[in-house]
This record gives sequence, structure tokens and C-alpha cells, in this order.
Amino acid sequence: MTLSSDLDHYLTHPLVGLDQVVIGPDVLDSVRDIVAALPAHNNIALLTDEDEYTTGSGTFLKPAVTGLLETLGTVTKVVLPGHVHADEATVSAATAGCEDADVVVTIGSGTLCDIGKVAAGNRPHVVVQSAASVNGFADDQSVLLINGVKRTAHSGWPSALVVDSNVLEGAPALLNRSGLGDMISMFTAPADWYLSSLVGMDRGFSAEAATMTRRHGAELLGLAEGVGASDPDSLATLAKFVTLSGISMGVAGQTSPSSGMEHVVSHMLDMANAARGKDTAHHGAQVGVATVVVAILWRKMNERLCAGNIDTLRLPEAADAERTVREAFDWMDEAGATSNECWSDYSKKLEHLRWVDAGAKIREAAGSWPAHAEVLSGLLGAPEDIVAALRAAGAPTRFSELENPSKEDDVIWALTNCHLMRNRFNIADLAYLTGSWTKTDVLAALSEAERIGAGL
Ligand SMILES: [Zn+2]
Repeated sequence: MTLSSDLDHYLTHPLVGLDQVVIGPDVLDSVRDIVAALPAHNNIALLTDEDEYTTGSGTFLKPAVTGLLETLGTVTKVVLPGHVHADEATVSAATAGCEDADVVVTIGSGTLCDIGKVAAGNRPHVVVQSAASVNGFADDQSVLLINGVKRTAHSGWPSALVVDSNVLEGAPALLNRSGLGDMISMFTAPADWYLSSLVGMDRGFSAEAATMTRRHGAELLGLAEGVGASDPDSLATLAKFVTLSGISMGVAGQTSPSSGMEHVVSHMLDMANAARGKDTAHHGAQVGVATVVVAILWRKMNERLCAGNIDTLRLPEAADAERTVREAFDWMDEAGATSNECWSDYSKKLEHLRWVDAGAKIREAAGSWPAHAEVLSGLLGAPEDIVAALRAAGAPTRFSELENPSKEDDVIWALTNCHLMRNRFNIADLAYLTGSWTKTDVLAALSEAERIGAGL
């Protein structure tokens, strides 16, 4: 199966609510045809931000789309001001702005699309992508900021995606490189998902969803240079990856096929920056950098498990765990909303791990680890290959190279404490609960990353 045939195949999957994906050069006009074919399209809400987008040939994207839609009905512009975050106030404003529309058309990137999915509700929602910057377009989930914490919530499938490679070519290179970084998570996230199923934390593991994009991993690594050079063909292929990745999350009914520890680290850094009143780095770029460190941790843990050299998994007492969570998050806001939110999720994880006797499950899995390592070898990637691809694309490989870089201490904090943030199990949980994820271990992993040109 090629990437394109996989994409065509999965668009017809019964769990996929996305009807149409148009990717290629000069496909912008299809937004008019898609909206015109809808039963009701007199009132069109055009949801976007204040940014200006141009195509590779210099055409302004928003006026072009507005012009196409105005031939069909009344277009109400819903413009979200400033640097847009998917917080409660912004999502409410978008929802109110789109209230009377028959159809919502969103122009923008990941955050706008996430907000559009909520604002559109059950109505048709057409997304005109301004970049291939994240993998969150083609699914029915949105990353929202709830009480200052990034949470993934069920929202709605977009009905159609329009991805014109000329538009992608005109997007800032760092956005498309971010898309590559987000996709790089395929070399760790599916492994985290598999691990989570081994400890009984996830009964929904699907080898099909886990490998949907990962089986094209070599092709992704080969795209890096073209993506870095804003080559339209490479960007169109990246857009297919990003779309298929979104679909894999839809098929799985959760973000796990593409979101493991590397995503939690990125969310933690976003939260830290928000708490400090700083702008955040680009999601995918940050995810790419984090993936290198996670791949290093995975390699270390995998080797230990293969050698039978792993300590017993010990679950902390609730009171101790709560203290640890509060120590990690109390600084973020005075009211303690963030630590309350994190403890609420972490305590559930702990209860569940106890309930399923995760320690016994890990002991059992460790007894036949070579068989698991065989599966994992098809899911994990070598940190060196990840660094080489990021470099070839001109994407950051170090946290300090990100736009709006985090303080070094925050990076160490995010890596050390990421397992305390949510009710999911990944390699950081296994490392922590077996005594292998102290601050010293984190610094060792960062030194190892430094050796291959990544890390801090
Ligand atoms: Zn992502």
C-alpha cells in the first residue's frame, strides 16, 4: 500500500467522518464546489485569525477564499484576534460568531481548525489549511486549554479538507517543518501506546491504527529535505501524512497513535510558558525535538527490558503521589487550578494501575520481552535518524533552537514531571515507576541527546 492508496482507503473507513480531502496544486477553487454541493449554504461563517496568508505565487489566501464563497451566499467573517489559543473564552467567541451559519469554513492551521471543529458542532465544516503544520486536521478531536491545562476533547470531524500545495509553499517554512516534527512522533508514540496496552491501561490498542503512518516512516524521513526547501510536491506528500495521521486517531478513537510522551512534554512546555506569560513554540517543532529525547529513553528502557535488568514497578501511595504532583505544578497558578487538574487525572491513573495490577503485568511482559521488542522494532525509530531528518529539513533539533525557547530548567521540569500530568501511560511512567526517571536520569538522557546534536 502506498501513502496515497492508504489515504484513499481509510477515507471510506466506517469510523471516519471526513468526507473529502483535496490535496494538490491549484485546488483552492474546490472549496466553492464543496460548499455549493451542501444542501444548505446560504449563510457561510468564515472563521479565521488576523494573520495574512499568501500562496507561493503571491495570491492572498483569505480574499481568494472569500471571493469564491461570496458567489454562493452571505459570508460572515469571524476573526479571532491576536495570537489565538483554544481557551474557553476564544472557543465561546468562535461558537457565538458561527451560531447562525449553515456551514463553517475555517482558514488556518491547527489551533484554528481545533476551534472550528467545536464551533461548527454538527454542521458541515470545511477547512482550508494554511500550512501542514500539525496532524490535528483530519480527526474529531480538539486540543483545548481547560483551566490552563491542555486537554484533548472530542469535537467533530471536518467534512472536508482543502490543501493547496501552492498555499503550503507560501506558508512560512517553519510551519511546514513543524508538520514534519509533529509526524516524527510516529517513531515513539505508537510504542507508548503499545506499552500502555501491555500494562492494562489501554484496551483499545490497534496494530492497524498504530502502524497506519508508521509503515511509511522511511518515506517521511526521505521527505525532510524537500519540506525544508518548501518544495510543493514534498509538501503535498507531507499533507497526506498529516491527514492520514489524523485519520488514524479517528480510527483509534483516541490520539494515542500519534501522541505519546513526546506530546506530553510539548504540552508541559506550553503550560509552563503560558504560566510565565510567554508565547509558546510551534507545536510540531517542539514535538520533533522532544521525540529525540523520548527515543533515547525508549532505547535505554528497551535494552534494559531485553536484558531482564529492570526494577519492580512500584506504585506510590496516594498521599505521596499527590504531594509529588502538587510540588510539580503548584507554582503555575495561585489558586492551584493546574495542580488540581493534574492530580485529578494522575490519581485516576494510579487507581487504575493498582486495579489492573500493573506491576504483575510488567513482570509478565518483561519475561517475554524479546517478543515485545520485535513488535516495538517496527514502531520505534533510532534517535540518530530522527535528528538527521530534522536537520535535513532545517528544523530545530534542540529545545534552545525553537522559536520562543523555554528556559533550560523548564525543559528539565517538563521531561522529569510529564508522567504526572495525565491519565495515560507512556515510557516515562514505566521509567519513573521502576526508579529510572529521576532528574539525574533526565540529565543523562539530555547528555546522550547532546552527543547526537539534540537535547537542550
Ligand atoms: Zn501533535
